[in-house]
Amino acid sequence: MSEIGRMIWRNMVAIGGEEQEACIHCGEVWYRIHYRDGVCHKCQILGRLGRTELARRRYNIQCALFFIGIPVFTFLFLRYFF
Ligand SMILES: [Zn+2]
Repeated sequence: MSEIGRMIWRNMVAIGGEEQEACIHCGEVWYRIHYRDGVCHKCQILGRLGRTELARRRYNIQCALFFIGIPVFTFLFLRYFF
């Protein structure tokens, strides 16, 4: 690595501090600054989703199941109690 490259590297590590984080997909521990939304660079290239996107999807699925559940339970209720 060149002298400039080493300087840039040292700066990047300094900005990231000593804070380290494990990737939510592969569990690789590295400096937080290199992670986007809890996902390491390798998994970002593989197109794996970040924490925020996963939470958003989970929320959407929960909402969908809830609204599917209303007619299903209404049907079962009417079927078995009337
Ligand atoms: Zn990863």
